[in-house]
Amino acid sequence: MTALPSTQEMERAYRARDNSYDGIFFMGVRSTGIFCRPSCPSRKPQPQNVEFFPTAREALFAGFRPCKRCKPLSVHGETPGWISSLVNRVGRDPGARYTDAYLRSEGVDPVRARRYFQKTFGMSFQAYCRSRRLGKALEQIRLGVDLDDVALGHGFNSHSGFREAFARAFGAPPGKSRDADCIVVAWIQSPLGPLVAGATSKGICMLEFTDRRMLDEQFRTLRRRFGCAIVPGENRHVAQLKTELAAYFAGTLRQFTVPLEYPGTPFQQRVWGELRRIPHGRTISYEELARRIGSPSAQRAVGHANGLNRIAIVIPCHRVVNKSGELGGYGGGLWRKQKLLALEQEKAAT
Ligand SMILES: [Zn+2]
Repeated sequence: MTALPSTQEMERAYRARDNSYDGIFFMGVRSTGIFCRPSCPSRKPQPQNVEFFPTAREALFAGFRPCKRCKPLSVHGETPGWISSLVNRVGRDPGARYTDAYLRSEGVDPVRARRYFQKTFGMSFQAYCRSRRLGKALEQIRLGVDLDDVALGHGFNSHSGFREAFARAFGAPPGKSRDADCIVVAWIQSPLGPLVAGATSKGICMLEFTDRRMLDEQFRTLRRRFGCAIVPGENRHVAQLKTELAAYFAGTLRQFTVPLEYPGTPFQQRVWGELRRIPHGRTISYEELARRIGSPSAQRAVGHANGLNRIAIVIPCHRVVNKSGELGGYGGGLWRKQKLLALEQEKAAT
């Protein structure tokens, strides 16, 4: 696991264009979708638009493309010309098929290319192309583009093809070592729209509806909380969650048993832990929730912590409603809260 210097230190470094920090961290600029080395001569972005990464690889995974001015991919020594033209070509058109024959026709030795990508990015050239395609697709999903349009617009010929590619993105399934140092994210279809699930080796750490505006922020928080990369993939917790969610939506499961991991402040943990005790098909008020965690006067803070829940459905924040009986808020959209409650109450009644 690679640690980052403090945010303050990194901000100072990039404002001073301090090249001694090149390779120590990379900065993604959300407003442009580009990532840079700290010494980049370009105009400095607003701090609130900057996201930091310990490696270029993680910036790529997060959907940023390398800056043309400071060439962050060549931080550890100059990039050979044949690599940069290849990288640029893939950046322009990551959906194209880059066969060995094609590489040879461009004067690139495929074996050498594979070796270079393996060494520099820790993945094969084909995996690099897939990660660029997925990075671009993820970026659009975060911008709220419809999943089908995203899949079709990136050389994936179907929705399921896209999900498959997403799952297989990095060749080998996540092994034990990878399990330990990254969060795997996967798509899960549901009657209420697609969900993105994230899991560490210990358990599920995220479940969100993909059109949720907070998703970008959630990814950032996860990276910060766990200090690791987010890569497409699946592990046994994701597999279990898929099975349990299917049963939940079918009305046959009332209690999730998949392991969860939800770091937070002690207060947040108390709130989230208490949410898990609200039975299927029941609702309580924010007031009641505050009382149950022993902070009856902290209703507002309780409501806030409720809204920051990262594991939708499984940690049932949708079961908290206003005292008046109104639905209150829901990050995934009120219509979903209503549907979830209706589903649970209907099944409870039968
Ligand atoms: Zn730059």
